[in-house]
Amino acid sequence: MKRTMLYGPRDVRFEEHPDPTIVEPTDAIIRMVATCVCGSDLWPYRGVDVADQPIPMGHEYCGIVEEVGRDVKNVRPGQFVVGSFFASDNTCPICQDGYQSRCVDARPIGVEGAQAPYLRVPLADGTLVATREVPSDDLIPSLLATSDVLGTGWFAADAANIKPGKTVAVVGDGAVGLLGVLSAKHMGAERIIMMSRHEDRQRLALAFGATDIVTERGDEGVARIKDMTDGLGAHSVIEAVGTQESMMQAIRSTRPGGHVGYVGVSHDVALPGLELFFSGVHLHGGPAPVRRYLPNLINLVLGGKINPGLVFDQTLPLEQVAEGYQAMDERRAIKTLLRP
Ligand SMILES: [Zn+2]
Repeated sequence: MKRTMLYGPRDVRFEEHPDPTIVEPTDAIIRMVATCVCGSDLWPYRGVDVADQPIPMGHEYCGIVEEVGRDVKNVRPGQFVVGSFFASDNTCPICQDGYQSRCVDARPIGVEGAQAPYLRVPLADGTLVATREVPSDDLIPSLLATSDVLGTGWFAADAANIKPGKTVAVVGDGAVGLLGVLSAKHMGAERIIMMSRHEDRQRLALAFGATDIVTERGDEGVARIKDMTDGLGAHSVIEAVGTQESMMQAIRSTRPGGHVGYVGVSHDVALPGLELFFSGVHLHGGPAPVRRYLPNLINLVLGGKINPGLVFDQTLPLEQVAEGYQAMDERRAIKTLLRP
């Protein structure tokens, strides 16, 4: 088969690689139905995270089980499955507390490389969730979204303690922030303020349930949120970027006693302790434990309750993966879906 490798900044290649095989008896091999490019893939793509050797790319996936190791009991060949970007045993104390992305035996799917026609999934029993039937093709984008981008937006909303009737602000108008809006809406937020200055993303945010758009950022953005909330700040803020500016914008937009759910992969963020101390806000976040939410999210998609697949505004054949990266890097696409 061919798979996606990143050789250096803006150098994505789709190149020959041996088909994956069962290595451990708990593995499954899946045939990819759809995969995609993640906003977090853009960090190494842009050279912010520098690798000293070519690295496989991709960690979002759904597909058909081809083969399972002898210890796998929960999934079988022929089933359609979705999994998280971290493989997890789903049995250890951390998993049982609902933090599967920090499982004591967590394995990043990224090192296997999901932007490929076949993928080895370690710890298949704890990682993969199968649907009862192979879903119809029109549901594939939304099911793929549950694997990371929706699962992450959902966790951000959950970590931000979004409750019915509350006011939410979202920092970051990438696919995760946009699905944070969808999640907030589903959780009953009354007012959802999307901070975005891009028209295509504003439109999608409104379609997902945003009630207000704020185009200012930084201190001006914070001032706008305060203006809109009687000077108090939002109850819940989703941070979906991962920079110093976005993190401080999120914290300062939150009222005392409120919650920040942060899921942007943190890059050189340093929090000022004294400001944090007097802010009185709750901070919770990190790599989303998508596996905790997957069964529910898959059911919501299959039941037609949510349509997160709308974040994919570009679909390409997998072999054109390099164009997908370029389109997202240049903000010509919000998120690119890839089909083998
Ligand atoms: Zn575990």
